[in-house]
Amino acid sequence: MNTEKTTDLPRPTKYIFVTGGVVSSLGKGITASSLGLLLKKRGLSIKSLKLDPYLNVDPGTMNPYQHGEVYVLDDGSETDLDLGHYERYLDQSMTRDNNVTTGQIYHTVISRERRGDYLGATVQVIPHITEEIKNCIKRLERDEAHVDVVIVEIGGTVGDIESLPFLEAIRQIGLEANPADTLYVHVTLVPYIAAAGEMKTKPTQHSVKALLSIGIQPDVLVCRTEKRLPDDIKKKIGLFCNVPSSAVISAVDVETIYEVPLYFHDQKFDDQICERMGLPAAEAQIDDWREFVGNLKNYTHRVKIAICGKYVGLKDAYKSIIEAFAHAAAANDARVDLIWVSSEDIKRNGAEKFLKDTDGLLIPGGFGERGVEGKIDAIKYVRENNIPFLGICLGMQCAVIEFARSVAGIEDAHSFEFYRDLKHPVIHLMADQQNVADLGGTMRLGAYPAKLSKDSLAFAAYKTQLISERHRHRYEFNNSYREQLENAGLKLTGVSPDDSLVEIVEVEDHPWFVGVQYHPELKSRPTRPHPLFRDYVAAAVKCSIERKSGANAVPENADDVESAINS
Ligand code: GLN
Repeated sequence: MNTEKTTDLPRPTKYIFVTGGVVSSLGKGITASSLGLLLKKRGLSIKSLKLDPYLNVDPGTMNPYQHGEVYVLDDGSETDLDLGHYERYLDQSMTRDNNVTTGQIYHTVISRERRGDYLGATVQVIPHITEEIKNCIKRLERDEAHVDVVIVEIGGTVGDIESLPFLEAIRQIGLEANPADTLYVHVTLVPYIAAAGEMKTKPTQHSVKALLSIGIQPDVLVCRTEKRLPDDIKKKIGLFCNVPSSAVISAVDVETIYEVPLYFHDQKFDDQICERMGLPAAEAQIDDWREFVGNLKNYTHRVKIAICGKYVGLKDAYKSIIEAFAHAAAANDARVDLIWVSSEDIKRNGAEKFLKDTDGLLIPGGFGERGVEGKIDAIKYVRENNIPFLGICLGMQCAVIEFARSVAGIEDAHSFEFYRDLKHPVIHLMADQQNVADLGGTMRLGAYPAKLSKDSLAFAAYKTQLISERHRHRYEFNNSYREQLENAGLKLTGVSPDDSLVEIVEVEDHPWFVGVQYHPELKSRPTRPHPLFRDYVAAAVKCSIERKSGANAVPENADDVESAINS
């Protein structure tokens, strides 16, 4: 008789909660993603969730200067940029279930209250809001396939008023579950005070106290530090924070964020998790990741690519583009130095000053008229000087305007987004956008298919005729100008399957000039670089080799330069 019948019981889904303390921007998202990657590479099935404490229903209406990039998923949801890290590290597509905001939680609870679903009860943060949070966390395990681990990252910093209901909800989940089924990871800061020559553990102690005061005892502390934590500091932190010193993990500043999982693995972080949670896990198969990180750090070629946009002061606004360049650089045995150029500076001082020594120009997506004329000048310069060009969304629209004005002779061509009484709106409002009043969640959002012409740079990159890419825009190529622009030499190499929307434009007799109405950067993965970014960087490498003999010269103004691997 089999006495070990329990092994046939369904395995419970385990929950790892990642909180942050002391200061923001410590890398909770990278920590959650790195853990996800390591556990997935051990053969476990992983789901991720980001809980955001703000009241916006989604970040779609937020200024990128405040919030960073809005990351769009296949299903059209507009999400936090951490979802980008989850997709890139896990190589898994997320859905709207993977990002929940306080705004969404309240929206659901209040709508329910208005319907009378609470049957006369007084609706309160505890239990109604917390129950809805728990519901959003628990629904992730309800999948056709068994989910081994759900990794839940709580936005904000412990001590913030806003994140309290989230912390209360995860405390309750821990209380209700078997101890081995939940694990609390707290990401904190251990500063090095140079004047004292010491690492300081007090901020971590205080942050753990704040967590304890709401009933959560962290199991693991991930400590951001400049230098690896010495054993005595680990012991001290462990003693004061009530965790074994082996569960105090160093998270030293590394050259590239992609090194973090390797760094955790070297400290046996994933071993500890599997052991503590009783997870049946094989050895982590991370050779491909190691190879990718090796390729990022060792390169033969070095190219300079200018990014010309409105938000050049805040790199988080272009997070996925920076990452897509890193992936493409690794695949091309190259390093990409990104030169951030303000489109308004180009307008003031001319494109040549900024672009003459570059090997490529990228114009990213954007909204609003500010800086558009500078972008158009930049595109004219690279089109006429054979410098590789990739235009994304607004970047593609600017390329169409520039081509219409300079090549097709439509002098006053512009976008309907900026001026309503235009004679030549070569970019206009999509028909189904005409009567849209709400701003949130109403653009053309998410994955749409497109078909490619065989004779095109796009087809050469994708090597397939049918593609699917993610969109986020209201305006588009105006079909009334198709013939005129095509006759002038603009190639419309990607269209929607019913031929009603132009998705890709290219320019002939140019080394590499592609504009896309969608956002390719959102689908680039470390070991599967996006085909367009890959070929674009290859074209930049070629351009750089042809352009100069001293190909490895370091860019003159180091302040304006950020390496794509340092993002
Ligand atoms: N503002 C343009 C539009 O709405 C482009 C949007 C974008 O670049 N994401 O169509």
